[in-house]
Amino acid sequence: MITSEERAGHRSALTVMTWELWKRPLHWIVYTCSTIIAMLAFTGVFAASIAVDSSQVITCGLLAGLAIAQSEATRRIEHQRRRLSITPHVNMTSVWVLPGAFLLPPQLAALLVAVIYLHLGFRSWSGIRHVNPHRTVANATTMTLSSFAAWAVLQLSGDGSASVTSICVAAFAFFVVNTVLTGIGLYLAAPEKASAPACIGTWDDNILELSTLCLGGLVTAALTHQPALVLLVFLPLYVLQRSVLIKQLEELATTDQKTQLLNATTWQQGAVREVARAERENGQFGALMIDLDHFKSINDTYGHLAGDDVLKGVAALVKSETRTQDLAGRFGGEEFVVLLTASSKHESVAVAERIRQRISEMVIRTQDNEGNPVVIEQRTASVGVATYPLDGRTIDEVMASADASVYAAKRNGRNRVVSSPDLAAVADVAEMPLEAVAA
Ligand code: GH3
Ligand code: MG
Ligand code: MG
Repeated sequence: MITSEERAGHRSALTVMTWELWKRPLHWIVYTCSTIIAMLAFTGVFAASIAVDSSQVITCGLLAGLAIAQSEATRRIEHQRRRLSITPHVNMTSVWVLPGAFLLPPQLAALLVAVIYLHLGFRSWSGIRHVNPHRTVANATTMTLSSFAAWAVLQLSGDGSASVTSICVAAFAFFVVNTVLTGIGLYLAAPEKASAPACIGTWDDNILELSTLCLGGLVTAALTHQPALVLLVFLPLYVLQRSVLIKQLEELATTDQKTQLLNATTWQQGAVREVARAERENGQFGALMIDLDHFKSINDTYGHLAGDDVLKGVAALVKSETRTQDLAGRFGGEEFVVLLTASSKHESVAVAERIRQRISEMVIRTQDNEGNPVVIEQRTASVGVATYPLDGRTIDEVMASADASVYAAKRNGRNRVVSSPDLAAVADVAEMPLEAVAA
């Protein structure tokens, strides 16, 4: 006979088994559990060896109260930011966690982080698919360990009282430990997709984190000398968080989310501006239309996710083969467009040929729908080239010409570059080695 307690025990065991956590890569689980154990062990040692006085408990309560008040005031902004972003996401908690590292014994600093993240987890992030409880715990652990690092640097720098230099060095230690621990976690979560910006954040992410640490330094100074001044931090913090949301929305509106290239509308707007500039300055530019050959067969053979990885690979390749002043966009499906500023037909054909060649050498390592590793290689693309003003005086005319060239390339056997107006002749040229095209 199974008792109700045993039934409850089975139910909770079943609930644990269904946690999203277990779907993560084993290396990530081991790493995250190790950091949690290390954080708990450090906290235990600090709790057993460092005395806490009542004024420190009051400071901890005050910082937790301020963090919760700020989080409540910006709850909707934070909710939207989290929904929009799955990249290393900087939140504003360092503003309160850093003063905790400076003003509190480390065990209280750990308690402060726990309170802040419990509140965020339940109030701002609950219900957002990619913010699972294990991510919240992992983030809180990283923040706690960063805070221990800042505290340790402050202790090592002398008597524990804060000079400007020791505060800056300790804040930097916080930043480095936070970045490194987060970076390792993100790498282990998906090593095959790891890139430097994905793991250690973009320039903007890091500037934002440094700004929150600066505000954390000001909060420390205010709490030490004139606690009421801490209220002055609220408004800048609100505006900072809102401006980050606006930037995220702007990126979302202009970028193709799958490939990170310009989306079709933004590319078109940029191209129209380029036509106006070329017209004004009597200039020229090239336009490439790149269509992957038999792309549907990749989806049919390995699944759409593998197909997506090929699209991402081609996009990265197109980006790396073009200059910053060029416009690289995703036109739709498996079609890409590139505008080569101030380029002649001859130069544009050479770039198109280089891209075609590199696509044919590209090797994509991914997984099929069953999770089996697959290597996709020897894929090809047909590229149409048109130039302003030779092939048209508006962007629509130029692109219609490039499109006609893509169709000609497909008809002539694919894996080639064709440029108008002499489609047939250029198809022949495209068959020749690059040196011959450039000659
Ligand atoms: P062709 O050589 O004639 O260009 O053949 P193709 O198979 O490349 O062209 P087709 O137009 O027949 O098929 C394009 C395929 O691209 C069909 C569609 O499912 C796929 N596709 C479009 N967008 C995406 C996407 O975002 N991800 C994936 N995986 N597939 C996509
Ligand atoms: Mg197509
Ligand atoms: Mg195609």
